[in-house]
Amino acid sequence: MVGITRPGKIVAVGRNYVDHAAELGHPVPSRPLLFLKPPSAVIGDGDAIVLPRESVQVEHEGEIGVVLGRRLRHGDEVEARAAIAGITCVNDVTARDLQRSDEQWTRAKGFDTFCPLGPRVVAIDSARLGELIVRCRVNGVERQCGHAQDMVFSPAALVAYVSHVMTLEPGDLIATGTPAGVGPLRPGDVVEVEIAEVGVLRNPVVVAG
Ligand code: ZN
Repeated sequence: MVGITRPGKIVAVGRNYVDHAAELGHPVPSRPLLFLKPPSAVIGDGDAIVLPRESVQVEHEGEIGVVLGRRLRHGDEVEARAAIAGITCVNDVTARDLQRSDEQWTRAKGFDTFCPLGPRVVAIDSARLGELIVRCRVNGVERQCGHAQDMVFSPAALVAYVSHVMTLEPGDLIATGTPAGVGPLRPGDVVEVEIAEVGVLRNPVVVAG
């Protein structure tokens, strides 16, 4: 187990579960659909997600986060597995209305507090990555439940793919995509992302002051 530090970069993946792509009305991509979230969006367990004035539809996306333990460039899947230090819970908070209205997703995915992360990074045998299950609850009610085995592209395949675009450094985070069940966050909600091996990432939701 290693502590949470702010990643140098956060690479996220769109539409990596068939059921989530379908709920947004999109086909499953033929290659990973990558986007970046800024490290300035990171908050920890217990910190508040702040709903920005620019959006009226902010949604949760519970995800399995993969943290790099070593540098990787142009890696294959075997090298990618060896470069993974551990996993953590991620909430890829998204302003869905801005995601639809903007031609790319920098605003929708990039507001301050839009990347809750934690509560810890847990080392895991890379052979067991496919067994992970991520759940997301709002006010105690389960909204999402995703099995890593149902990903379109596996965590190791994603890490290898990203490493052909940009050098991955220790501490970098890959958010591996969200399963079906995304939905709105409202002031006063408490949203939780849980992976049994990691624990619960719990964040209250507040409006911008
Ligand atoms: Zn996402």
